[in-house]
Amino acid sequence: MPTVETVRGPIDSADLGATLMHEHVFVLSTEHVQNYGTGGWWDEEERVRDAVEKLDELKSLGIDTIVDPTVWGLGRYIPRVQRVAEQTEINIIVASGLYTYDEVPHQYEHRGPGLLLDLPTDPMVDDFTRDIRDGIADTGVKAAFLKCVVEAKGLTPGVERTLRACSATHRATGAPITVHTSSHNQAGLLALQVFRDEGVDLTKVVIGHAGDSNDLDYLSELAEAGCLLGMDRFGLDIYNPTANRVDTIVALAERGYADRMVLAHDASCYIDYFPGPDAQAAKEQIAPNWHYRHISQDVLPMLRERGVPEEQIRQMLVDTPRRYFE
Ligand SMILES: [Zn+2]
Repeated sequence: MPTVETVRGPIDSADLGATLMHEHVFVLSTEHVQNYGTGGWWDEEERVRDAVEKLDELKSLGIDTIVDPTVWGLGRYIPRVQRVAEQTEINIIVASGLYTYDEVPHQYEHRGPGLLLDLPTDPMVDDFTRDIRDGIADTGVKAAFLKCVVEAKGLTPGVERTLRACSATHRATGAPITVHTSSHNQAGLLALQVFRDEGVDLTKVVIGHAGDSNDLDYLSELAEAGCLLGMDRFGLDIYNPTANRVDTIVALAERGYADRMVLAHDASCYIDYFPGPDAQAAKEQIAPNWHYRHISQDVLPMLRERGVPEEQIRQMLVDTPRRYFE
């Protein structure tokens, strides 16, 4: 029986159920908080309680699992997520990897093959592998997938090194990969180029934020390569409105790619890009649908109304996520 690691430990992959493939629990600028404080807007107990409430609500809407790609660069802190996971029924899957649009952290800068401190392997690979095989820090929680980024700057040396480190870890452990991409420069194709070169199993790759694009040729090229398309920013209308995202899913399903799309919001219980009550209120005004409930309450009914069959919705929510982790 294939199992998948979650925050509460391994579960049968058949029990993943309806899965949102890219949601954060918390996004927090840890180093900023440590040095500047929060002026009171971060209350640990309140934030944990609030997260449990939001995830319970999501569970009541029929979602069984969220996949959380919060890694270094976004404030990954597993003990806090453990506290949430202990109090909610929903499964939370966590990641290893690195979130950078450009350079690697200085911690990695000088160490590795061919660098100032010439090491036999990239220390990034050692760290990522440890997260997957032994667990993250001393929490006992194992990462089940890898996260990296190709943004508007494209394959900078740091970004390329990160993708190659994720690829090497994927080859050694079998862990699948989710790559955040920017759509306007078709960064998915840049990621694809590196993953191909590294011998990555492309059926184990989610091209994250592919759903920001409505370019059917670009998206079909990624799907033809075997990749999964992350239709994963529902509610972020500033990047692509819901109606267009739905149109694109319908069109891709008609082209035969229903088994290569996964769904999510890229939402969070709390994201400190908008710290404090005023910024949070502004966020809700700018992106009123950017929350965990939008897909269940609005998007799935829209897809059904557009004639997307139940079987295809099941593929996007249940079967494809399961296949990705098996
Ligand atoms: Zn994200």
